Amino acid sequence: MKIHDIQAIQLLLATPKKIAIIPHRGPDGDAMGSTLGLYHFLLKNNHYPTVIAPNDFPDFLAWLPGSETVKIFEKDTENCTKILEEAELIFTLDFNAFHRTGEMEHTLAKLKATFIMIDHHQKPDDYAAYTYSDTSFGSTCEMVYNFISFLDKKQDIDKTIGTCLYTGILTDSGSFRFPGTTGNTHRIIAEFIDLGVENTQIPILLFDNSSYSRLQLLGRALQNLKVFSDHKTSYTTLTQAELDAFHYIKGDTEGIVNYGLSIQGIVFTAIFIENKDEKIIKISFRSQGGFDVNQFARDHFNGGGHSNAAGGRSEMSMEDTVKKFEDLVTKLKI
Ligand code: 5GP
Ligand code: MN
Repeated sequence: MKIHDIQAIQLLLATPKKIAIIPHRGPDGDAMGSTLGLYHFLLKNNHYPTVIAPNDFPDFLAWLPGSETVKIFEKDTENCTKILEEAELIFTLDFNAFHRTGEMEHTLAKLKATFIMIDHHQKPDDYAAYTYSDTSFGSTCEMVYNFISFLDKKQDIDKTIGTCLYTGILTDSGSFRFPGTTGNTHRIIAEFIDLGVENTQIPILLFDNSSYSRLQLLGRALQNLKVFSDHKTSYTTLTQAELDAFHYIKGDTEGIVNYGLSIQGIVFTAIFIENKDEKIIKISFRSQGGFDVNQFARDHFNGGGHSNAAGGRSEMSMEDTVKKFEDLVTKLKI
């Protein structure tokens, strides 16, 4: 961040403010960890922060400290709109364009407040007065740690803030294994552990809390996996009927996409998940190494993200979507 911007933000935060903090739609560990980490920091500095998520977060994140205070725009639109209209400062975290908040985008676009963006996705929009955007970071949570340090407030980071930030660093780095993971990442984690952050308990809360039916759903996704060895690609699908059969709840499909990369020699994978309510197929893409799934998602599936992890959507049927994907894959030279 530019020193100029830091000084301006320090000035803004010098007196108590009404502040809204917003993660992207379908908030994940990094979106919830970063917004709640910042929430606790602002609370500690005598502000009046509220985290407003566009839609609900998955159950496996409900243990995060402060999650009970999070307002859900989709469920409580009137009240959330009021809070947004009254906010003097609005932080948008872990996303780069208003449309990533779904329906909430129309409300955000009308607001006059000062926006601050902290994010690690490519090609940020320019709605924010202050933009801290850097794709080299593995998580927004790591950037929030830096942001607090830039403000000269590192001493405020306590076990609660550390717990939130630890969560997003852990989930967005694929448990410290994706390319954005650096020595600094591990040094920050070490500081968190010294603050008492429960580094062995958090992964259990996040990853070892599956229902039996979630594992059966995973089994189905693994059975549906198709492999194109010549193109180093795999993909799988889950239809709405399959989700229903295994009593799908929000969060159950999290992480399933990664299994497609665990096959030897496969460097590009996707999962197609039908959502009958929204009449779309939601897609997640993952890659290892040089194949840029952000570009692929932007070019072909109305999405985006990072070079090794991106998402997109299709309004065609599952059959047609998968056919389009297969046609593209057979032309790929990976
Ligand atoms: P996931 O596959 O876990 O939903 O998302 C992977 C990454 O791509 C995340 O960083 C997420 O924010 C981003 N992403 C997911 N879906 C979309 C989308 O529809 N559009 C854009 N621009 N990014 C997405
Ligand atoms: Mn993120």
